[in-house]
Amino acid sequence: MDAPRCPHCGEPVTRALDLPYGWWEWTGDGYRLTTASDRVDVSPWVHWDCMGELRQFHPQDVGTYQMR
Ligand SMILES: [Zn+2]
Repeated sequence: MDAPRCPHCGEPVTRALDLPYGWWEWTGDGYRLTTASDRVDVSPWVHWDCMGELRQFHPQDVGTYQMR
């Protein structure tokens, strides 16, 4: 089974990040807080490859893999 496609870059979402606060990006002078979402209501899932927000995505809605 193929992974769902990312709505931003079109590539398969083989790794999704749970980023409630975003990430820190090096700017050359220091780190700047970056976020994939412009809202504060729900923590976004983010596609690892393009860091685009996956608003409608939840990994537990896809497939049947269960952690032991
Ligand atoms: Zn993407």
